[in-house]
Amino acid sequence: MKQGLGSALRAKQASGLYRRRRITEGPQGVRQVVDGQQCLSFCSNDYLGLANHAEVVAAFQKAAAEYGVGSGASHLINGHSLAHHRLEEELADFVGRPKALLFSTGYMANLGVVSALLGRGDRIFQDRLNHASLIDAAVGSPAKLFRYPHLDLQRLESGLRIAGTGRKLVMTDGVFSMDGDLAPLPRLQEIASEQGAWLMVDDAHGFGVLGQTGRGIGEHFQLEGSPDILMCTLGKAAGTFGAFVAGDGELIETLIQGARTYLYTTALPPAVAAATSASLALVKKDGWRREKLRYLIRHFRSAARQLGLRLLPSETPIQPLLVGEPGRAVAISDGLLRRGYLVTAIRPPTVPEGSSRLRITLCADHEEQDVDQLLDALDALVHGLA
Ligand SMILES: *Cc1c(COP(=O)(O)O)cnc(C)c1O
Repeated sequence: MKQGLGSALRAKQASGLYRRRRITEGPQGVRQVVDGQQCLSFCSNDYLGLANHAEVVAAFQKAAAEYGVGSGASHLINGHSLAHHRLEEELADFVGRPKALLFSTGYMANLGVVSALLGRGDRIFQDRLNHASLIDAAVGSPAKLFRYPHLDLQRLESGLRIAGTGRKLVMTDGVFSMDGDLAPLPRLQEIASEQGAWLMVDDAHGFGVLGQTGRGIGEHFQLEGSPDILMCTLGKAAGTFGAFVAGDGELIETLIQGARTYLYTTALPPAVAAATSASLALVKKDGWRREKLRYLIRHFRSAARQLGLRLLPSETPIQPLLVGEPGRAVAISDGLLRRGYLVTAIRPPTVPEGSSRLRITLCADHEEQDVDQLLDALDALVHGLA
């Protein structure tokens, strides 16, 4: 093709940054067929093992029979079904907020919040390691973006102090998606409140997982009513698809009136909303899934430490193994797949230069011996015993 696409693609290949899709067959789960090969997966965000749960699938099928497949239009035209509305009420109740609003994806929810709340003369403050969708939300906004070094709250605070009179929004991942560590919510909320800024937390990886009952980062820190704006995705621990924003009535009403990614897109299929109601019931009821996950995380970390593997300081199901160069990360990932383990290599620009890694994720459906087998294979590949 013209204009250098081919040479740019070849350069990506040469530097180990080329990405390719693997084709899966059958349902999402820890045992999956990938490119025709049976393997044990350690890279899904389906942390609780609900994506293929019989009750969630049954709720989806029942709602499809009742509502059909497509929602037909956006929520403000005639796409807002009883299934969507019920789910919003259940989600608000679960996270302990007056209101919740469904979005079709987390990416769109993040863009939508910024588009509805901020304009020219306003400021956005973001952790450098935030998810791409938060960064894109800010880049696409006329508000000015200030990025502070990872977890550097002093830099955040001094930035807020000199920010002037416009609206101020602090945006952070709750659980950092490629590192697994947590945003220090209590101190962040304090700083934001003192400086007259809103705090928005993207709890994509905390919802369903963190806290005694899975309510996420607020419950983890036992901080009621924080953050001011909570965004959670439903395609990860909840095992379905979509996202929601929760907060007070004025916030949600403002999003309904002005979030462009809410107004100008088709509502989720109602059956997806109904399936999510079923999965939310399991998130609440099956505390054993979180307990098992915590047990597996502890086991993984102590066994990995004994093998001298370089883990990051994470207490969540995201347990990255730092490798460094992208080519090496890909080589280890390929070596794992030959042995039947699926772990994706994460490379720039998803993570900073020199910090390519294997992003290992644990799921409540893994068993202790699954983790041990993965660690044996990692030991051999990382330490060059293979
Ligand atoms: C996955 C993810 C999103 C995007 O959510 P989707 O529903 O998949 O669009 C947003 N933020 C974070 C931190 C995520 O990990």
